[in-house]
Amino acid sequence: QSEAHSDQLEAHELLAKFYHHLLLNTNEGQEALEYMYARGFTEEQLKTFRVGFALPSWDFSSELLKKRKFDLSSMEQAGLVIKRDDGSYFDRFRGRIMFPINNDRGQVVGFSGRVIHSTKDEPKYLNSPETPLFQKNKILFNYHRARGSIRREQSVVLFEGFADVISSNDFVGHGVATMGTSLSSQHIGMIKRLTNQVIICYDGDNAGIEAAYKAANEIVASGLTVKVSMIPNSLDPDDYIQKNGGKAFRQEVIDSSVSLMAFKMRYFRVGKNLQNEDGRIRYIQSVLTEITALSGAVEKEMYLKQLSDEFDLSIDSLKQQLTSISPPQM
Ligand code: ATP
Ligand code: MN
Ligand code: MN
Ligand code: MN
Repeated sequence: QSEAHSDQLEAHELLAKFYHHLLLNTNEGQEALEYMYARGFTEEQLKTFRVGFALPSWDFSSELLKKRKFDLSSMEQAGLVIKRDDGSYFDRFRGRIMFPINNDRGQVVGFSGRVIHSTKDEPKYLNSPETPLFQKNKILFNYHRARGSIRREQSVVLFEGFADVISSNDFVGHGVATMGTSLSSQHIGMIKRLTNQVIICYDGDNAGIEAAYKAANEIVASGLTVKVSMIPNSLDPDDYIQKNGGKAFRQEVIDSSVSLMAFKMRYFRVGKNLQNEDGRIRYIQSVLTEITALSGAVEKEMYLKQLSDEFDLSIDSLKQQLTSISPPQM
């Protein structure tokens, strides 16, 4: 990024500071703060991640920026304010809980704002738009803070939502999240600079499982190893933590993540009825197709044995079937 954007960096830093103060220390921020506490976030977490609150005002931020001599057309390019037809400006973020988003150097380059009460008329999260400083395919939430932990743990935990990163942070310091977009090759490149082991921990609902399957294949194709954490009952990591605590999350979810193959064996069950013969055959076929892609003979044998035990089939017949399958395209 060039020097030309230094005012935009400064403006983000200034607003992050103001929003954080408004959330923690003012009457105007009280409802938002109570909401965050009711959700189980701690004061320490709110401080670490500098969570804030943008007033429900059309011009609080734009007036502040104007008073501090920022050029509002540059602020518009930074996504902080929006220009009206008459040439005046209004605040993009109004009445939202504000999460500063940092680049890999730790500078605030964008925000995501959450409504306090979800309604149908407004998006739950409003992100900064794509700007010269904020390119979602190059941003991983918490990347700059997690760097040390990622190296120490020799793995990174990839979440779907940044709320999950924050609430797991006390026990999982090596967590990062995409900004609501799918995983890009640049994201994978950022991870590769620090570790070669990725633990995917997406939401336990169907959308999360589908996204995990897709991300896992892409990560493996780029030469990294993948494990997958599975969260029961369609919960997301944050829900799980509020229910069972961060320690249980670390032990039962993160440290109990399974190999990609084990994840796929569960994934292929989704939407198939294994009580009926057709569903069973399609399931076995999917698993066999994945087995052909495994490199180790022992691994192959192990999963064939699992299939053979589960469906009461001979290993020989499974092996015979296996030779007629060409490996999957990834
Ligand atoms: P919360 O627990 O606060 O409801 P979440 O982290 O569980 O939030 P999800 O609905 O699982 O949120 O979405 C995961 C991620 O997708 C969010 O962190 C956010 O980056 C993005 N996202 C969700 N909803 C929206 C939206 N309406 N617009 C833009 N991005 C969104
Ligand atoms: Mn989700
Ligand atoms: Mn979620
Ligand atoms: Mn959630």
